[in-house]
Amino acid sequence: PRLANQIAAGEVVERPASVVKELVENSLDAGATRIELDIEKGGHKRIRLRDNGSGIAKDELELALSRHATSKIATLDDLEQILSLGFRGEALASISSVSRLSLTSKPNSQEQAWQANCEGRDMAVTLQPAAHPDGTTIDVVDIFYNTPARRKFLRTEKTEYQHIEEVIKRIALSRPDVAFVLRHNGKMTKRFNAVGQDQLAMRVGQVCGQSFLQQALHTRCDYDGITLEAWLGDASQMRSSNDCQYSFVNGRGMRDKLILHALRQAYESVLASAEQPAFVVYLTIDPREVDVNVHPAKHEVRFQQSRLVHDFICKAVCDALVSTEE
Ligand code: ADP
Ligand code: MG
Repeated sequence: PRLANQIAAGEVVERPASVVKELVENSLDAGATRIELDIEKGGHKRIRLRDNGSGIAKDELELALSRHATSKIATLDDLEQILSLGFRGEALASISSVSRLSLTSKPNSQEQAWQANCEGRDMAVTLQPAAHPDGTTIDVVDIFYNTPARRKFLRTEKTEYQHIEEVIKRIALSRPDVAFVLRHNGKMTKRFNAVGQDQLAMRVGQVCGQSFLQQALHTRCDYDGITLEAWLGDASQMRSSNDCQYSFVNGRGMRDKLILHALRQAYESVLASAEQPAFVVYLTIDPREVDVNVHPAKHEVRFQQSRLVHDFICKAVCDALVSTEE
């Protein structure tokens, strides 16, 4: 099973940031409202996540570390979602096959916390009692230690850490109600306090910076069941735009060409600027109007009525930009 897991790992574990993404998504699935990450050496040395989610019962720890059909499928709709995300039910098994992983957890209903470690050639799982508050800690050490070919592809500490920060910023923008703390080599680099769903602006400020928030143009519009809420950077911020270009469709981070194109077109026509604007855009649309299966790994979507969506975004952004020109 180890080889199969390592092959699967090739799909799911591209670099430390992909491990972080899987771990954080699991914490969110477990209802965590606080997620702390300790990273050492850009994740090369260690990725440790602690959460206050529902935890994993002692007799489910071993299962969590083996490839399994995920238990997270409740409805057919879910199934489609999960298939579209890909690689469900094998992230932890994959990660543990290319690292030294330990999993410590305590559900609220259990008196004692337990720790699971994978060891030896056959990755036998050993369990031992541990001290841990309600929730889960996952410690991923020496990623790719046993797959030198993959290790070669790791970039510098700094680059890998930037990728990790990006993952956290993107997720944090979609879950303002969850607190995130990120440390690198023992030093805190990011801290996003939880805010209400109706205080999205505060989270945008935490993630993209107060100066972006203060200068950005905020707009919110509805049309035919589509809602757009956006913070749009002005021309003076365009040079740093690479730091801040985020779009979300129904709460999920997307690198969507259509949204980017619509924004560019609006900036070009109003400000005569061909540069890339900084933005945070949330689009809410009937899920039946979106096909998320186009390219799960690349986070692309296809809109049934793409022209309509494009023109709606373009018009909304134009209107917002024009209103400040006046
Ligand atoms: P999947 O998320 O698709 O089910 P994973 O390999 O990512 O598969 O996780 C395996 C299982 O481990 C999950 O189904 C869940 O039951 C459990 N699990 C993983 N991380 C956590 C966590 N932080 N809190 C609670 N349960 C977790
Ligand atoms: Mg998972």
